[in-house]
Amino acid sequence: MSDADIIIVGSGMGGATLAAGLKGSGLRVLILEGGVHLKDTPEARDPEAIFRDGHYRPDETWLTPEGTRFNPGNYACVGGNSKFYGAVMIRYREADFARWPLDHATLAAFYTRAEALYQVRGDAMADPTEPPHDAPYPHPPVPHEPEIADLSRRLKRAGLTPSPLPLAVDLDRWLARASTPWDAHPDTNGGKLDAESAALACALDDPDITLRTNVSVHQVEADGARITGLLTSAGRLTAPRIVLAAGAVHTAALLLRSANDTHPTGLANRSDQVGRNFMNHNTSAVLALSHRRNRAIYQKTLQVNDWYGDGLGNVQLLGRVSTPILAAQTGLPRPFAALIANHAIDFYAMSEDRPNPESRITLRGDDIVLDWKRSNWDAHLSLVAKLKEGLRRAGFPVVLSRAFDRRTPSHQCGTARLGDDPAHSVCDPIGKAHDLDNLYICDASLLPTSAAVNPSLTIAALALRQADHLRNMP
Ligand SMILES: Cc1cc2nc3c(=O)[nH]c(=O)nc-3n(C[C@H](O)[C@H](O)[C@H](O)COP(=O)(O)OP(=O)(O)OC[C@H]3O[C@@H](n4cnc5c(N)ncnc54)[C@H](O)[C@@H]3O)c2cc1C
Repeated sequence: MSDADIIIVGSGMGGATLAAGLKGSGLRVLILEGGVHLKDTPEARDPEAIFRDGHYRPDETWLTPEGTRFNPGNYACVGGNSKFYGAVMIRYREADFARWPLDHATLAAFYTRAEALYQVRGDAMADPTEPPHDAPYPHPPVPHEPEIADLSRRLKRAGLTPSPLPLAVDLDRWLARASTPWDAHPDTNGGKLDAESAALACALDDPDITLRTNVSVHQVEADGARITGLLTSAGRLTAPRIVLAAGAVHTAALLLRSANDTHPTGLANRSDQVGRNFMNHNTSAVLALSHRRNRAIYQKTLQVNDWYGDGLGNVQLLGRVSTPILAAQTGLPRPFAALIANHAIDFYAMSEDRPNPESRITLRGDDIVLDWKRSNWDAHLSLVAKLKEGLRRAGFPVVLSRAFDRRTPSHQCGTARLGDDPAHSVCDPIGKAHDLDNLYICDASLLPTSAAVNPSLTIAALALRQADHLRNMP
């Protein structure tokens, strides 16, 4: 007796969006989530609890290739990493699909549906790199604060093309809880439209879709080309179709950990690509200082793509880096941190990380080893240099930058990539494992390239496409 028609492992951006896409299908869907619901406690809006004390970081540790244990910034809760996301819901640009088995036109309708599900606020006409939309964004852009409206004018005068960031934020609702930024803050009041507040809320309206929290999947059982069950902390569970949506690191680890006599190097791994091609974007914080005081609260509403076409990447604002956040992140003495934080506007420069089979997740005993080999670093340095030049032209005499830590795999992807060729990819273009008849993957693992934009909307669009496929299966 099966526990459901489909079991989805993980309730993050991929898993929850897939469940929303299966709403009303008549299929019995069981979502297994290792974490629990985030609670609305004072820490949720306390920058010191979040950034200094690591209140929300899971106990989990991974290893570097040299064997150093570290605590990754990878969150485990209902809604997954999207509970902490900056809510930037942006499409890959058309040229970003060059090495994919599908193009933007194939995904366009699913992008539109994902933008509707996540109630994205944006302006499809404002950024020259924006791909064609078949419908406008569901809502107008989140308004710039006065400092950012002024920044936008100054960037234009400096010859750049700033535009509104597409965002899945209900600003009034977010600010009603407390006047803080949302980037890297947990969403405990539904102020962000994330995998829980948007997709799961929609999916769980359907009585055939259920969520079990605090259930971790340890291993996937296979007999020949079929998955036969899941070994979980709540016992053995089974369904005719299984979807892994545990995130790019954990999905790969589960597949590797589930090796058996027929699949000695791990499930779905005839190509030897499971865990390989790990990508994570090259990112830097860039702080533009001037004599003006920055009184912005949330700040994160503007992007600049002037260097995207040259292959250098995207620039967007960070959530406001206040004094406690800066002090916690840099160890600077508080008065010095205050001087900088009060006068800085904070940017996030993001460049593509390219697929490299040697950049990979492996297992050492029960431990996950993350061996991220950065690629394309020179392009990232050029992006930061161009941004600094532009900011100086726009009237910021001092511009500081610092690369983000390698151990924060926020934009992890690529470890079970899509492709037409079973010899070089793990899944077909829908996300079904080439090697197994009833195993699907539905998370950031699928992305064959990282582009230079935030991944969630593309994960969501792929999930809705996979949902349509599963609905139509006999
Ligand atoms: C601070 C921060 C800011 C970000 N900002 C943005 C942004 O602005 N825009 C954007 O597009 N992206 C952003 N991201 C990235 C985005 O959150 C991720 O790309 C996205 O959530 C990945 O979705 P996923 O489905 O692959 O995995 P996840 O969202 O990580 O979901 C995986 C889920 O599986 C569960 N799970 C894992 N292993 C198991 C297991 N064995 N058994 C059961 N459950 C399991 C986890 O608990 C988790 O809930 C940000 C990430 C962070 C950390």
